[in-house]
Amino acid sequence: MVSALDCCFKTTRWFPVVFIVAVIGWSYYAYVVQLIALTIAEESMAEKVILGLLYHPILFMFLWAYYKIVYTEPKGPPMQFYLTTDQITPLLQAESDDDREKGAELLEQYVKPLPVCSRTFSQGVRYCELCKCLKPDRAHHCSICKKCVLKMDHHCPWVNNCVSFINYKFFFLFLFYAEIYCLFVAFTDLKYFIALWASRRGPSLDMNFHVLFLFIVAIMFAFSVFGLLSYHIYLILRNQSTLESFRPPVLKNLGPDKHVFDLGKKRNWREVFGDNPKLWFLPVVSCKGDGVTYPSRYDHQIPSYNSLENGRNTLVP
Ligand SMILES: [Zn+2]
Ligand SMILES: [Zn+2]
Repeated sequence: MVSALDCCFKTTRWFPVVFIVAVIGWSYYAYVVQLIALTIAEESMAEKVILGLLYHPILFMFLWAYYKIVYTEPKGPPMQFYLTTDQITPLLQAESDDDREKGAELLEQYVKPLPVCSRTFSQGVRYCELCKCLKPDRAHHCSICKKCVLKMDHHCPWVNNCVSFINYKFFFLFLFYAEIYCLFVAFTDLKYFIALWASRRGPSLDMNFHVLFLFIVAIMFAFSVFGLLSYHIYLILRNQSTLESFRPPVLKNLGPDKHVFDLGKKRNWREVFGDNPKLWFLPVVSCKGDGVTYPSRYDHQIPSYNSLENGRNTLVP
């Protein structure tokens, strides 16, 4: 019963993706067949060719980025972050407050050899009881993917995937190319939209609903995507995830700090897109780092829990 429900839930999660693909498929038909082939006059052959030549590469980049964000599996913590059965047993058996206190001490020991410096709000070790692992910095448990995810940004229903360390660039490029696609379609369709709309009022009823709706749908999506795209540009330039913008990372002994990973706009951009500008706008992996440790604004590298403990680095600017 549970697995049937689970299966049903997993299937319904694909509905938004099917919706997006259906809208893209319809927009292709409306633009290429209805607008370019049927609406634009035969005498304007140059316009037909130019629009077709510009439209297809934009659509290709949009679909490529969308495919990558939908199908790139988010990365989980490396093996050394998972506790062994022997390590987990005393934590599971804790019933009294004393036991729980001992459990917290054990977690402190377990995290010592790991490169972790963020904490819970109560300064405890970030431990996932569901995955039985210690959480690396910026990692969070996704209740939909049912696992801990490195540098989790958010779980996006429109791509049915966790936007995280390994695929954040793909998500951004999906928004970026979606915006270009919508604006291109809207602006090149505008004069035909106006002409058809005017013809509706005149004696001619030669209307093309696909061309009319194409403009309205493209403008609607362009506005909504613009808001999200602008927000993610803002986050990238501050080196913040969506989760961190609401719930700042907490550092041991220092408390919450929204700007801990802010290295300056240029370096923040390169953290996500890499050092090679030729790869910035291609949906291929080019982000920096391993998703487990991150440079901070305090130092060139966030010190490990150990170094904090030994007082070698106090993370004070
Ligand atoms: Zn987890
Ligand atoms: Zn998820």
